[in-house]
Amino acid sequence: MKFLCVDCDKQMAFEERQLPGDGTLAATFKCPACGRVVAMLTNPMETQLVSSLGVEIGGRTVPAQPLETVREGGEPRGDAAGPNGAPTWSADAQERLARVPNFVRGMVKRIYADYAKERGIAEITPAVMDTARAELGLEGM
Ligand SMILES: [Zn+2]
Repeated sequence: MKFLCVDCDKQMAFEERQLPGDGTLAATFKCPACGRVVAMLTNPMETQLVSSLGVEIGGRTVPAQPLETVREGGEPRGDAAGPNGAPTWSADAQERLARVPNFVRGMVKRIYADYAKERGIAEITPAVMDTARAELGLEGM
């Protein structure tokens, strides 16, 4: 990528580049003959595009950024109480949860766990499950 000063037919020299940190990029180029300056601004998407193409600006490659944003980490697995105040399950509740079909158990478990967590319920019991089911309008879970 080069810029030419149309008046002088000279290649403009890279002068300054700013990476404010929000993904935008500003670069200025100056004509060595007449001093005319042009600036190039890219939005985060364009900056990614430019860097993924390996275009060098001012002799240095823009640090590559992953094209895909990093996904949020998953919830911790396991039946025991989680490290971030996840509610525990009483024996009765675990038994009842075990009767939920495999393919929806994880989802059902999370619905109840979220329900309990939001309400500050430390232990999920069948009674809590009944209340949650009624409140959330869940049937057969
Ligand atoms: Zn010029």
